[in-house]
Amino acid sequence: MDKIGFIGLGVMGRPMARNLIKAGYSMVVHDINREAVDELADEGAAPVSSAREVAEKSDVIITMLPDSPDVEAVVLGPEGVIEGVRSGQLFIDMSTIAPATALKVYQALQGKGVDALDAPVSGGDVGAKAGTLSIMVGGTDKAFKRAKSLFEVMGKNIVLIGEAGAGQVTKACNQVVVAITIQAVAEAMTLARKTGVDPAKVRDALLGGFAQSRILDLHGQRILDRNFEPGFRVRLHRKDLAIALQTGHEQSLPLPATAQAADMMDALLDQGKGDLDHSALALLVEELGGVEVDA
Ligand code: NAD
Repeated sequence: MDKIGFIGLGVMGRPMARNLIKAGYSMVVHDINREAVDELADEGAAPVSSAREVAEKSDVIITMLPDSPDVEAVVLGPEGVIEGVRSGQLFIDMSTIAPATALKVYQALQGKGVDALDAPVSGGDVGAKAGTLSIMVGGTDKAFKRAKSLFEVMGKNIVLIGEAGAGQVTKACNQVVVAITIQAVAEAMTLARKTGVDPAKVRDALLGGFAQSRILDLHGQRILDRNFEPGFRVRLHRKDLAIALQTGHEQSLPLPATAQAADMMDALLDQGKGDLDHSALALLVEELGGVEVDA
């Protein structure tokens, strides 16, 4: 069995690493948050104090970090992964980052004889805990085959989409659809409310027709329940839309509906609501329409 190095033990990384330990993998871990490291050390992982050391002491290195600059710093920066790697290792980044950064990391590691995969996920902390994440992978077939058994511990719907960067492009597409659909559900339910029609009955009716979706189902219910506890935070989704918009810009492709959803999320951030669930877009639509809803 490959020895695993895991960097980034947050909301997602911690349960993912835990599932690998439970599956019998021996593991070296690193995070700048000492508490997270201690927790996994208690469960059998070996803590080390830098990304370089993780690379030196493992065969497959996995990262689950917040954003593109974090991955770039942890892999290519001082005391980074690249300083500790040797030929034949595999690097897997499972964070959601810009495809361009994924490609940059891939090329730098290839130069050291290290294969790399971008493998962002969807499914949230619930999927991370249950080992049922969807994993969207970019990279070579050979690297994918090597990583498959690890992915199967962490996820269920695991797809090799294409070459390096393709996993991140897929995740950006996912986040575009989710954001615009939440906005649509929020607008529809607020339209119902404002016209005096029961939004719960509207949701039920729509779920039986062409407009049905998981988002109408789950986030529609959240909006009815006034349950804006995350879930997936507005702040993180806004980061992902920045990735989609930047990628669109690089391709000279306007994404006007995505830009609007990003503006709405910026307004929520300005109101100090960045840590609410992204279904809180409904709060803003209601506010714009002067619709008051009892909690
Ligand atoms: P998080 O902020 O909870 O965890 C990130 C971890 O990385 C933290 O423990 C932090 O201390 C650590 N870290 C940051 N910089 C570091 C560095 N330089 N060296 C070592 N450790 C460092 O974030 P999360 O919710 O676990 O999300 C991780 C990634 O997964 C993000 O890209 C996010 O967009 C994506 N994602 C999150 C969810 C979700 O529901 N939370 C769902 C799908 C995808």
